Amino acid sequence: TASVIDGKAIAQQIKGEIAEEVARMKEAVGKVPGLAVLLVGSRKDSETYVRSKKKACEEVGIKSFSIDLPEDASQNEILKHVYEFNDNPGVHGILVQLPLPRHIDEEKVVGAINIAKDVDGFHPLNIGRLAMQGRKPLFIPCTPRGCIELLIRSGVEIKGKHAVVIGRSNVVGMPAALLLQRHNATVTVVHSYTPNPAEVTRNADIIIAAAGVAHMVRTDWLKPGAVVIDVGINPVEDPSAKRGYRLVGDVCYREACTIASAITPVPGGVGPMTIAMLMQNTLEAAKRAYDQTEG
Ligand code: NAD
Repeated sequence: TASVIDGKAIAQQIKGEIAEEVARMKEAVGKVPGLAVLLVGSRKDSETYVRSKKKACEEVGIKSFSIDLPEDASQNEILKHVYEFNDNPGVHGILVQLPLPRHIDEEKVVGAINIAKDVDGFHPLNIGRLAMQGRKPLFIPCTPRGCIELLIRSGVEIKGKHAVVIGRSNVVGMPAALLLQRHNATVTVVHSYTPNPAEVTRNADIIIAAAGVAHMVRTDWLKPGAVVIDVGINPVEDPSAKRGYRLVGDVCYREACTIASAITPVPGGVGPMTIAMLMQNTLEAAKRAYDQTEG
């Protein structure tokens, strides 16, 4: 059976490393990294993510700044806060929790973030650099970076392998595919218009599943020995669960365990890594601001 890639434990270890670096920074320059989190509206999932992000900041010693705006906040009001954070030297990272309400131009808001503070890595300049050979983005989007970090820290070789990404969203699938290419994998992307995705995934040495479809990846989607990174977080009804539902991945975990060589669980896989990478990106932003980067 597959070995379990314990994202929760690996994220904990990374946060420990970050906490040490934050303490060192405090000693060297008398400052700690700062992360600003802007939440608009009251989507339950967004509120939960924002809460976890603030909690992680506390754990590692990063100062968090937060602004909660009502659902009907105007675009100018949101932009005003972004500009204030851009100008605030104590803020090194700015995160606008997505999705924004429908009346807001998301591209405009994300594009207004100072690229040196774009710790989500969603600014078009950062994504553009991620896509270009020989260029370096200032930040790599947290969820894809977390997936790669899980592979590296589990000793999975990426170079020369066939990696298949399921999904092509701006936040996960697309940057994950770009990042895998940077790590010298041969990458195929399948999406909702791919006629028979299982035919493609069956050839994958590494699969990153980010479609948002519960239990889509079954035994016959997998090559024996494949490494499976399950990004999906999907609620499914479960009357025995406290809230009436539980969260499952895009991969049928029980089936995949019998054929994969390694797999991430949901929850406890990619989720905690996303937050650890946000802390990492914020630390890196602060190091650059205080000129503490090595090399
Ligand atoms: P999205 O809806 O923006 O994109 C889904 C992508 O999957 C699309 O590109 C679509 O073409 C593709 N897709 C949809 N159905 C498909 C199918 N049947 N076959 C093949 N491809 C299909 O979603 P997203 O924001 O990329 O998120 C994907 C999943 O990852 C969701 O479950 C989300 O909750 C989860 N997520 C987890 C984290 C984390 O930290 N673990 C972070 C972000 C998103």
